[in-house]
Amino acid sequence: MTARTMFEKVWTAHEVVPETSDTPAVLYIDLHLIHEVTSPQAFAMLGASGLTVRRPDRTLATLDHSTPTTSDQIFGKVPIRVDAAAKQVEKLEKNAAAFGVELFGMRDARRGIVHVISPELGATQPGMTIVCGDSHTSTHGAFGALAFGIGSTEVGHVFATQCLLQRKPKTFAVNVEGRLAPGVTAKDLILAIIGRIGVSGGTGYVLEYRGATIEALSMEERMTICNMSIEAGARAGMIAPDDTTFAYLAGRPRAPKDSAWDTAVASWRALASDPGALFDASVDIDASALEPMITYGTNPGMVVAINAAIPNKADDPVDKKALDYMGFHGGESMLGKPVDVVFIGSCTNGRLEDLQAAARILRGRTVAKGVHLLIVPGSQQVKREAEAAGLADIFKAAGADWRESGCSMCLGMNGDTVGAGQYAVSTSNRNFEGRQGVGARTLLASPYTAAASAVFGKISDPRPLL
Ligand code: SF4
Repeated sequence: MTARTMFEKVWTAHEVVPETSDTPAVLYIDLHLIHEVTSPQAFAMLGASGLTVRRPDRTLATLDHSTPTTSDQIFGKVPIRVDAAAKQVEKLEKNAAAFGVELFGMRDARRGIVHVISPELGATQPGMTIVCGDSHTSTHGAFGALAFGIGSTEVGHVFATQCLLQRKPKTFAVNVEGRLAPGVTAKDLILAIIGRIGVSGGTGYVLEYRGATIEALSMEERMTICNMSIEAGARAGMIAPDDTTFAYLAGRPRAPKDSAWDTAVASWRALASDPGALFDASVDIDASALEPMITYGTNPGMVVAINAAIPNKADDPVDKKALDYMGFHGGESMLGKPVDVVFIGSCTNGRLEDLQAAARILRGRTVAKGVHLLIVPGSQQVKREAEAAGLADIFKAAGADWRESGCSMCLGMNGDTVGAGQYAVSTSNRNFEGRQGVGARTLLASPYTAAASAVFGKISDPRPLL
């Protein structure tokens, strides 16, 4: 039999109707994750057509994108302050009840960012097809799932049919070897990969991250890697499931149990790409040569090692526009640039290990005067775990603003925004113009670099603090 890639195996197992030159494939979807921002239009489509949600048991809703992160608005009697957010929350509550979809509501202990809670629950499993109306659905590829973001209209299609029309992507092997140096994280690795292949280097492909470096990563680190696949333009990112994956999933509430677990693990083990499987493209990355990374421009591919200077590309109009927006110049050092806001959170770096990394830097130190350090756990479970481990106490003692879970300043829809012209070091995934607020200037980095920059009030190399 021909050697097949992991993507090929998952795709074929879900192909209801193969694609032709004229028509896309019909792909079956195992898990549909929804939230308050991209679902209202899709529910309205269903209602207008007199349709129901075909598989409510394969649909899971949470509130994250525009929900508040202050405790008074979640648990107190204080109304949601952002009017649009209040309407979206109310709409999803009504739609979930009307269409029989399970919703983790505002005060549910399981609520959190959609890409954090599904793995936490064990709902995300190897070999699945998973979609959500959010680009960073690629996160779930860390489990060997084929997971990607869809638009509001497609959310409606999946509601109605549990299927999706899709053109089959090509495959791209990202081979990573070498040990990451101390202070260099999975976030730095994915930023370096995007810097290497470019923000459209993955367009039309599903990336498979492979090699000894990837195999040595924890599941949380693998999620950070797959999360940002979309920032390289890829349809999705995948990592072969292995013992690390199975140890993470074992015992989680929605993971298979007893003999079903053994059967599942046996089938999951067979998902890895076969030896000799051919990919349409590949790149080799030496992880041992990497340093902490930070973005200087307005897309995640505009990235340098923290000790490096901003590239001098005066002739490149895209780079020039980005540097004008950021108020930077080619040839300048990134180190020492002043910082107004630091955001630690999001589906990229809002998990427990990320908060542990931040706490390692912040323990016994204080946030520089004039800097707002906002730390937002990825889920209520992460919040509880961080509080039980004493991390929240470290953050508060350092002067950080410790919140309830949500997307928060990743996209600023809930009122957690960066002011015009302000500089924010952020552990999120997008540094587009205005992503964190009108005129906000975002610099993407790891939790280590973000925390160190908060301590010094300027862009700082975290390694001397570790
Ligand atoms: S944290 Fe940001 S990227 Fe992640 S789901 Fe929320 S808005 Fe999307």
